[in-house]
Amino acid sequence: MTCFICEKEPGASEIDGLTIPPKIKKLGYKGVESTELVFDGFRVPAQNILGGEDEGLGQGFVQMMDALEVGRVNVAARGVGIAQRALELALRYSQERKTFGKPIAEHQAIQFKLADMATQVDASRLLTMRAARLKDAGERSDLEAGMAKLFASEAGRFCVEESLRIHGGYGYSKEYEIERLYRDAPLLLIGEGTSEIQKMVIGRTLLKRHKI
Ligand SMILES: Cc1cc2nc3c(=O)[nH]c(=O)nc-3n(C[C@H](O)[C@H](O)[C@H](O)COP(=O)(O)OP(=O)(O)OC[C@H]3O[C@@H](n4cnc5c(N)ncnc54)[C@H](O)[C@@H]3O)c2cc1C
Repeated sequence: MTCFICEKEPGASEIDGLTIPPKIKKLGYKGVESTELVFDGFRVPAQNILGGEDEGLGQGFVQMMDALEVGRVNVAARGVGIAQRALELALRYSQERKTFGKPIAEHQAIQFKLADMATQVDASRLLTMRAARLKDAGERSDLEAGMAKLFASEAGRFCVEESLRIHGGYGYSKEYEIERLYRDAPLLLIGEGTSEIQKMVIGRTLLKRHKI
């Protein structure tokens, strides 16, 4: 497998051998456009080989796997961000909203939710920083990146749901930010490899590192 850099005229949707269909309509993550690139008979010169003709030829799989390691740390960091924002919104709303004569934050059921969320946010951040430091140091980090991506994206999903519940009916309304986070979070469970795939990567790498 070999990777090529393919140029496209800005704004063009039909080039010889490359078609760009209309934008995909999505549940969330609307700040970033998503579309397909359909290649059929598209030609590029050999000088467009990623990494150069001498070093890049046949290196596509290695290059993609390397990109995935960075990508997984990137997605983990986005998971931390979504989880933390969901917690911040829950902390604020639960001290403003009163039921049965007191702020809902004073009900133990709500405090338990806040405690679980805050713990997941901190654990996600620590796992993400460990994976990022290893990558920065040029060390192999497939296991750590997989763990960070798995845990932080699941923490994002968990925290947005808990925060939405804490917001009661308002959480379901577009008037409140948590509604958008609730739609944005699931992409992190899928992109750069689903949670199931992360578990496969983690399991296989564990067995490789601890072979008897
Ligand atoms: C908004 C958006 C943007 C994206 N952007 C990009 C992009 O920029 N570049 C890019 O390359 N891709 C992109 N993707 C694609 C994304 O990486 C894939 O959707 C993702 O990796 C999952 O692959 P899939 O959709 O083929 O799911 P599938 O592989 O079909 O998985 C379907 C289900 O089966 C499970 N499954 C699959 N295989 C196994 C197995 N062996 N064991 C157990 N369970 C399994 C999965 O976990 C999942 O639950 C994007 C996706 C979305 C939604």
